[in-house]
Amino acid sequence: MKYNPCMLGYVISGASVATAVAAGYQSMAPIGQWYGRTFTGVPRGSRHIALTYDDGPNDPHTLRLLEVLAKHGVHATFFLIGRYVRQRPEIAREIVAAGHVVGNHTFSHPLLIFKSEREIKQELSECRAVLKDAIGEHSNLFRPPFGGRRPAVLRIARELGMEPVMWNVTGYDWNAPPAEEIERKAAKRIRGGDVILLHDGDHRQMGADRSQTVIATDRLIGHHRSEGYEFLTIPPMMERARAGPGL
Ligand SMILES: [Zn+2]
Repeated sequence: MKYNPCMLGYVISGASVATAVAAGYQSMAPIGQWYGRTFTGVPRGSRHIALTYDDGPNDPHTLRLLEVLAKHGVHATFFLIGRYVRQRPEIAREIVAAGHVVGNHTFSHPLLIFKSEREIKQELSECRAVLKDAIGEHSNLFRPPFGGRRPAVLRIARELGMEPVMWNVTGYDWNAPPAEEIERKAAKRIRGGDVILLHDGDHRQMGADRSQTVIATDRLIGHHRSEGYEFLTIPPMMERARAGPGL
């Protein structure tokens, strides 16, 4: 075949499209590690599970969820949105008083991959300041909204002393499907050592109905406890990940 410069150009642009698509996928994929390590759970096979809840505080479902968690004696990790904490600081205080861990989920829940470095820094710092006002010192955990991240997001988070946390199991509960569906979708993926993403709030509005997530939580805990699983917050899960498999 005769050398054809146009074809070479075609091949190259095809390859860069594939790379760009893969990079876009990686920037949203919860367990993608191209952009630096983010915590997504401990090695498979452990009997530990971490429940995590995003987008609160939310009235009244965060408080209902706290009741269910208290009933089972389980502690979870809550990634709170700064502007909601400013609206309802007393709910954030209830979360802490009940012994749960609170992390940073930005001030206004933007997709950070489209934000400038200055805006990313501002979103993280503002949420931290609001949390500090409401509950004082809290964990250094950070979860990017929509799981969206790129190298700058992770670098800025680390510069601010924050530890990014993703997930490896989701209940797909953001559009409030029935509890059975949330439970089934999460349970199907649980292998032990998992970080489960659920929502006690909704980044679009305060007051979103999360009753189905509350019911699904009750069932997930009951079911997996009977199978010998233990529920932990993210910091002890991270300790176990650092200590290696077998713990
Ligand atoms: Zn969120």
